[in-house]
Amino acid sequence: MERAEDIKSYKPDQPIQDSDVQSGFKYEVAEHVGAEGLMRCLKCGACSGGCPVAAVTDYRPRKVLGDVLLGLKDQVLSSDTLWLCAACFTCEERCIQEVNFTDVVTVLRNMAVREGFAAEGYMEMAKRVIQFGRVSPLTRQVERMRENLNLPPLQEPAIEELRAIMESAGFPEIMEAATRRSKTV
Ligand code: SF4
Ligand code: SF4
Repeated sequence: MERAEDIKSYKPDQPIQDSDVQSGFKYEVAEHVGAEGLMRCLKCGACSGGCPVAAVTDYRPRKVLGDVLLGLKDQVLSSDTLWLCAACFTCEERCIQEVNFTDVVTVLRNMAVREGFAAEGYMEMAKRVIQFGRVSPLTRQVERMRENLNLPPLQEPAIEELRAIMESAGFPEIMEAATRRSKTV
């Protein structure tokens, strides 16, 4: 895991140029399941105030939302910090407007991957799922822990079925686009 000080900063506040703005971006995001409440955001900051990631990095849910509403598509989707959200749902619990920011982040991450901005760590996890059917290898230690807890042995993943599902969802093409982009930046 990268240390907080090694994370590339979310682009600091700078004057926005016309060329940075894609005004339809918020509609593009809001049409995805989970992000429908985006336009209800009042920018009150309750989400940022309770976010445990915001406490140790420059990631701010309110800023991400503000940038989405402004139309800063490239800035939002290419940001490394978008991948820092720990999906703890604190922001959703605090939001009086029911914006459901955790779900908005999922939508933004999916869009970022399709645009070729997948975070390296997530790409590695995806490759392992395709290859082994699991993110983490099953070790003897895990097996022992399961035995001690009287849990049944884990079944071997149905890798062929998993690959068929991923292929029908267009996952290999998404991975290829993300890999191409990572080679050109
Ligand atoms: S998402 Fe909710 S809590 Fe966060 S700034 Fe918008 S209205 Fe406030
Ligand atoms: S879900 Fe993500 S953005 Fe929301 S409070 Fe937790 S870490 Fe922060």
